[in-house]
Amino acid sequence: MRRIVSSPEEWACGILISSVHKNGEPREERFELAFGGAVVEYWGQNYTPLAPLSVRITANYARDDIVTGVSLSGEFSLPCSRCLAETSIAIEGDMRYLFTLRNSGGGDGEPAPDGDFDVIELDKFQAELEMSPYVWETLILNLPEGVLCKEDCKGLCPVCGGDRNARDCGCAADDSDPRLRVLKSLL
Ligand SMILES: [Zn+2]
Ligand SMILES: [Zn+2]
Repeated sequence: MRRIVSSPEEWACGILISSVHKNGEPREERFELAFGGAVVEYWGQNYTPLAPLSVRITANYARDDIVTGVSLSGEFSLPCSRCLAETSIAIEGDMRYLFTLRNSGGGDGEPAPDGDFDVIELDKFQAELEMSPYVWETLILNLPEGVLCKEDCKGLCPVCGGDRNARDCGCAADDSDPRLRVLKSLL
């Protein structure tokens, strides 16, 4: 099984800077990104894609800067944090990135527009905004660290390892802790 830990090469999605409307009107692109059978590795676990990632990217000028928005939705499965059963989740993500020439000598020195942006410096000779690293970032920042197959998942028995959702194995939970066992024998 191939695991990916950063944006795969096939995800290359460049926006030509010359194609962004000068009148401030947003330019929008929608597309899907496939995982090619690979799983996403993050938080030390595997997220199995159940569908391609739906992505929407917008780009518009704000003064001399370009504000881009990355919105995505996807479906993954990952092991339940308690019983390890594969559990599917829907994820949504929304991030904004501001590309600026300001600090590389091409801007007008005015402060950046207000907002919650990650600021990326543009090279004056750059013709394209390569968005795939930001699509990847938007994805992983919205992956939950853990998930439960159901709210009251009983988990695996620490004594016999059985799935306590499927069967009550009857192991006494107290006996799993050797310190308690010692205490009990003293009583
Ligand atoms: Zn579970
Ligand atoms: Zn048990």
